[in-house]
Amino acid sequence: MPYIKAEYIWLDGQAPTAALRSKTKIIEHEVRTIQDVDLWAFDGSSTQQAEGRSSDCILKPVRMVHDPLRGAPHLLVLCEVFHADGSVHVSNSRANLRDLATRYSDQECWFGIEQEYTLYKGQKPLGFPAEGFPAPQGPYYCGVGSEFIYGRELVEKHLESCLSAGLKVSGINAEVMPGQWEFQVGASGPLEVADELWLARWLLLRIAEDLGISVTLAPKPVLGDWNGAGAHTNFSTKAMRAHGGLKAIEEACERLKTKHQEHIAVYGAGNEERLTGKHETCPITEFRYGVSDRGASIRIPIFSAKNGCGYLEDRRPAANMDPYKVCAKLIETVCGEQRQPLLTQQYEQAVSL
Ligand code: ADP
Ligand code: MN
Ligand code: MN
Ligand code: MN
Repeated sequence: MPYIKAEYIWLDGQAPTAALRSKTKIIEHEVRTIQDVDLWAFDGSSTQQAEGRSSDCILKPVRMVHDPLRGAPHLLVLCEVFHADGSVHVSNSRANLRDLATRYSDQECWFGIEQEYTLYKGQKPLGFPAEGFPAPQGPYYCGVGSEFIYGRELVEKHLESCLSAGLKVSGINAEVMPGQWEFQVGASGPLEVADELWLARWLLLRIAEDLGISVTLAPKPVLGDWNGAGAHTNFSTKAMRAHGGLKAIEEACERLKTKHQEHIAVYGAGNEERLTGKHETCPITEFRYGVSDRGASIRIPIFSAKNGCGYLEDRRPAANMDPYKVCAKLIETVCGEQRQPLLTQQYEQAVSL
């Protein structure tokens, strides 16, 4: 029986933005399903997840994929964090999404997340000269040629690795600022998309290590006339995808309008530097939705408007957002039961009397 190197991956307790951690366990028995991967523990006092006196936190494997870097039979194992008594750790944002995904499974929510990120070499974004700044933005987005494109070797390795791990990555592109890129995960159900986004982020950081490049998900890595980095979250329910679903999309936008601040609160730290009203964003203090409007909070893609059904794009989430929190908030707001407005209730009572 060959041994398996299983890389246990989890989110730490740093606030406001959790970071990825991982360590390797050698497994000497056969692994067919995630149930065959054992619980494990780690020192929570080193990850801001426990005090030194009772420092053991529990890792519970929840999703596994082939490890594309170490090759077969090695595994990447994404975990949820629990206390030793089995209760959910406060850093475990997946637990809430798990509950919501189950509760509203009948609405068949799909998500597609566009992960933007910025590559750095030392203190500068990749492609920035040692002194000063590169030529202004314009030719870099989806560009080709060595005067416009920086980091393609890493980006290609990452795409290949995600695909061979079985992650549902739907595409990649060079972004508006030099050294800035995007990959898209989905469209998939809430837990699938969020788990796979965390695994894809882990692969990106790990591959970049070997190339001496660092990756930041900071929402606004370079101040001034340079694009920030977001994580546009495309979202649909069964009703939105069905014939005439545009009405459901508009209803969702109206619901989202009433919860703007609650959403912003979980859409990533430092997002106020990015959502300024410039660079294809809507100011953080405003909520607007519209067809094809890349300056809106929510864009209804042109094909959704034309077909009369499809999905919406929430453009507010920052690149450093936690997809467990963003997906949970969207499900809660769009799918959740809403209390009848008081006036309507009174009116209905009056009529039924
Ligand atoms: P943009 O034009 O904003 O750059 P992208 O092509 O980068 O858009 O990303 C669009 C994302 O939307 C993809 O991840 C895609 O899988 C996802 N998507 C497509 N259809 C749906 C749908 N019905 N529900 C949710 N997500 C969807
Ligand atoms: Mn995109
Ligand atoms: Mn983009
Ligand atoms: Mn987009």
